[in-house]
Amino acid sequence: MSQQKIWLSSPHMGGTERNFVTEAFDTNWVAPLGPNVNGFENDLQLYQGQDTHVAALSSGTAAIHLALIQCGVEAGDEVICQSFTFCGSINPIKYLGAKPVLVDSESTTWNMCPIHLEEAIKHRIKQGKKPKAIVAVHLYGMPYQVDLINKVASKYDIPVVEDSAEALGSTYKGQKCGTFGRFGILSFNGNKIITTSGGGAMVCHSQEDKKQTVFLATQARDEAAHYEHTTIGYNYRLSNISAGIGRGQMEVLDRHIGLRRKMHEFYIEQFKNIEGVSVFSEPSSDYFSNHWLSAILINPSKTNGITREDLRHAFAKADIESRPLWKPMHLQPIFKDAPYYGSGIAEELFETGLCLPSGSNLTNDDRERIQKVIFELFKSA
Ligand SMILES: *Cc1c(COP(=O)(O)O)cnc(C)c1O
Repeated sequence: MSQQKIWLSSPHMGGTERNFVTEAFDTNWVAPLGPNVNGFENDLQLYQGQDTHVAALSSGTAAIHLALIQCGVEAGDEVICQSFTFCGSINPIKYLGAKPVLVDSESTTWNMCPIHLEEAIKHRIKQGKKPKAIVAVHLYGMPYQVDLINKVASKYDIPVVEDSAEALGSTYKGQKCGTFGRFGILSFNGNKIITTSGGGAMVCHSQEDKKQTVFLATQARDEAAHYEHTTIGYNYRLSNISAGIGRGQMEVLDRHIGLRRKMHEFYIEQFKNIEGVSVFSEPSSDYFSNHWLSAILINPSKTNGITREDLRHAFAKADIESRPLWKPMHLQPIFKDAPYYGSGIAEELFETGLCLPSGSNLTNDDRERIQKVIFELFKSA
């Protein structure tokens, strides 16, 4: 008897996505513009609140690229980035010929440490170069320490590019993630909390910023009957087909966040009596995570020697996907020469952490299979 693989996070359609896509076909809006693009942007603006202006783009990575350009980042400039993140946060710095400066995490939200951030800024300024932008990330849906990061950023007058790719629907002090930075970034890749099969968005705070984003994302065409160009542009707009999927997904977003948060509660229940395993959770009521991925830390000195790898292998044997946390960028061969400011928090998270199946489409049978693996492995501990 074959059973299906349990994934970390897989697409979960609500049902109406197909209607929007069919409508696009019926009206021949099969292009990187059209009513679904406008409708999806409208849905996102209403959802984000705060008078936001949203531009739908082809990916989250593209959004970060355009945000950095609009922060004035050019070849040779330095940009500060959280080291503990996915490569999509940092690669656009290199696209521009700029230099990443990496900053460690703090242990409560696993995101950018405000103390090391200030240390990095001060040191770079002393070296003669003030960083042009800060890329801060809400990893796994957990908001970073927004007030403290913003305080440092505004003290030195450096714009924040808020990588909210994993945090659509998360809030800090009641305000949506993606609305705190000079620009906010969203992703709708296949494994994210909602998907358009591939896509992203830029959350702006003015109509001018949105207009400039769309301009850059559509090959930077100046106003003329012919094609006239005074700036280098990109082909980064979202297609009207993909945006149709997005409109359907927006209808179920909050329900799916509720289901992801239930998965997080499920893991709290599973590990509550297992010493040496902690489930990543909000540090206070100021933080509301969409719990895009549930994650744990395993301390082998308290689990009778059971490690993160032991659990990962036990899951794999049962055809259940789990994955180590992001490998910090300062440990990646490609970024090994980047300056790094930290004290080992990100390394430790990478050594001891594991992401667990978290999808909003997991069933009771799936949960039973997961539970069984955990129980069998830790019963000796
Ligand atoms: C997914 C992701 C991105 C990039 O988004 P894409 O749409 O896949 O290009 C950037 N940053 C983080 C933290 C992500 O998880």
